[in-house]
Amino acid sequence: MDRIIKNYDLDKVSVVTIASHSSLQILRGAKKHGFKTIGIARPNHGWFYRQFNFIDEVWEVDFSEFERVVPKLVSNNAVLIPHGSYVEYVGWRRAMVMEIPTFGNRYLLEWEADQRLKMKLLEHAGIPTPKSFDDPSQVDKPVIVKLYGAKGGRGYFIARNSKELMDKLQGIHDGYIIQEYIIGAPAYYHYFESRVYNRLEIFGMDIRYESNVDGRIPGLAEPTFTVIGNIPMVLRESLLPTVQKYGEQFTKAVNELVPPGMVGPFSLESIITDDLSIIVFEFSGRIVAGTNVYMGIGSPYSVLYFDNPMDTGERIAHELREGIKRGILDKLLT
Ligand code: AMP
Repeated sequence: MDRIIKNYDLDKVSVVTIASHSSLQILRGAKKHGFKTIGIARPNHGWFYRQFNFIDEVWEVDFSEFERVVPKLVSNNAVLIPHGSYVEYVGWRRAMVMEIPTFGNRYLLEWEADQRLKMKLLEHAGIPTPKSFDDPSQVDKPVIVKLYGAKGGRGYFIARNSKELMDKLQGIHDGYIIQEYIIGAPAYYHYFESRVYNRLEIFGMDIRYESNVDGRIPGLAEPTFTVIGNIPMVLRESLLPTVQKYGEQFTKAVNELVPPGMVGPFSLESIITDDLSIIVFEFSGRIVAGTNVYMGIGSPYSVLYFDNPMDTGERIAHELREGIKRGILDKLLT
């Protein structure tokens, strides 16, 4: 990456991302901060993105051949912003070796993709997590089963006890983890670890809107967790110090286990129980789609750090712009 960045014209940096997930927010923010913007869409999906004038170029690319456009991106002095759809369409293995400067710590994408590595990192951070069960017969409380490779909450199911669990596991041959089902209310925290200001910012929060746990199913369907959208939230202020502490613990764990450490946006996903304990069951080591709820308006928490409300797309662009000004762009990329 150092070799590629050395040849970049830093007055003409482009911001590129896959046209999906949080790309509208990312590219809008980048344009606002004076970057050229490129959206990479799947074949026949570019038309939607071409209507927005903050996207300078929309390229249609078959993601199985993403590597073919990388030299052209590099000649555009491009920095890639990874998000959930990049991980889904290109895959973390290819993302590891993609020869394009990538904002944040791309190596964290591997940890995020593996349910066991994911829980290991959270436990290393000393953050409370749900109990895991290796043996279905040992289960003594409601559990949630997460199939490896499940995406966006699809492929999860609940069992109320050990017998129901064993029945439901019949015929499942893929890998999975069995986790205590935490009873409480979900809350998802958006953080930004800034190398420019050397601080961890709580940048926003959301809750997910999921079929069928949030839908109108009057006893007619099993609970399922397919994400269909997101809703903004603010937290009881008395819980914010704990949220900050867990974010800092997570950053420290990433710094220790996944060099070069935490850079940029990430998220911790939790359930808060009725005794106000925050139990974290998941993280994302990059921008999450829940940040879209603040697109263009900024989150209420962003004003605690900046005069202007900002969304996470703008926050990324601000970090890149300041990083370029201060000569530390290479510290923001892997
Ligand atoms: P995920 O795809 O891991 O973000 O999880 C999808 C959804 O499943 C979450 O939004 C929660 O509603 C739910 N969930 C996941 N793990 C747990 C857990 N251990 N206890 C309770 N709910 C959970």
